[in-house]
Amino acid sequence: MPGSSTSLFSDLDVEVTPDAQIGNMTWYGVGGRADLLLRPHHTRALRELVKRCYRSSTPLRVLGGGANLLVADESIDGIVVRLDQPELRSITYNPSGEARILRAAAGADLARTLMDTTRRGLGGLGQMAGIPGTIGGAIRMNAGGVYGSIGDSVRSVTCITRRGDLVTYPASELHFEYRRTNIPDPLIVSATFDLLPTDPIALRRRVKEIFAFKKSTQPLADSSAGCAFKNPIDPITEERVSAGRLIEEAGLKGLAVGGASISHHHANFIVAKPLARAEDVLQVLELVRRRVYEHCGVELEREVVVWRRGEEDESPEERL
Ligand SMILES: Cc1cc2nc3c(=O)[nH]c(=O)nc-3n(C[C@H](O)[C@H](O)[C@H](O)COP(=O)(O)OP(=O)(O)OC[C@H]3O[C@@H](n4cnc5c(N)ncnc54)[C@H](O)[C@@H]3O)c2cc1C
Repeated sequence: MPGSSTSLFSDLDVEVTPDAQIGNMTWYGVGGRADLLLRPHHTRALRELVKRCYRSSTPLRVLGGGANLLVADESIDGIVVRLDQPELRSITYNPSGEARILRAAAGADLARTLMDTTRRGLGGLGQMAGIPGTIGGAIRMNAGGVYGSIGDSVRSVTCITRRGDLVTYPASELHFEYRRTNIPDPLIVSATFDLLPTDPIALRRRVKEIFAFKKSTQPLADSSAGCAFKNPIDPITEERVSAGRLIEEAGLKGLAVGGASISHHHANFIVAKPLARAEDVLQVLELVRRRVYEHCGVELEREVVVWRRGEEDESPEERL
């Protein structure tokens, strides 16, 4: 365990795993290890940890469900935190007696939260059907699709600042844009959502329909991180165009390097076989970026987050 980092958390209520295999905690299931994986038991320990990391310039990365993440094959420096302890993945209905509101901790599983609200006949998160990951990851990415995004039902988001303070932003101060938000803080701890009482049978049918649509258009059973690239904006129409279509038109469907390839089902999904290396995926990403540019002059921007040793996770500011 790197001695200099130990003092950052030795007195905190956190589970510590040195040299943790984190690649297999991602949906890709490829990639390497983290020098240190910490799983705080509660928000207090998390706040102190964030403050100490920023004070000592120790890299801090947050691992959600790993559904939009590629971890490079080499080990990752600094500290990786995972919010999978009970307090940090809990969900509460009607907090402080407010009806029709759900408070979900950032580590809560998105699909389970959707299932639970649906079972209770509470609409609001249906647009998230078939999108894996955690509440925190979904807010950071403003995950969504043709049916809407998570930002549509957010009432407020609570974060930890670099100084370790808690700050709550009401929806009126938040901008949820295509796969990004204006949240400036490094760590999302929880969010509240407005829910609408809805006929449970109709709600379940709607969620099933959305899930069936996703299943028919995306290779949900393969190892991937969802769409590899963001849909770029057409400079003439100023509308977003499908990155998958551009990849397909460049003749790249099926292109493979080692165990990674472009899905035949959806060209914007780069899928990995069990023995693939993260480097295979990275090479396919680079080939696609270059060939699409050569074919139609469009510079694709990665949607999947890549963690490499010595490189910080894209900071919230870079996402603005
Ligand atoms: C099969 C499949 C289908 C998908 N379909 C879609 C889709 O239709 N639409 C869509 O938008 N996405 C889709 N995705 C991508 C993915 O599901 C979303 O981006 C999801 O929101 C990622 O959440 P996560 O918790 O797994 O985040 P991770 O992948 O763990 O992390 C992603 C980024 O968020 C940051 N992060 C995570 N948690 C926090 C936190 N608490 N505070 C601050 N930062 C945090 C991480 O540090 C990282 O930078 C798909 C992925 C797969 C594998």
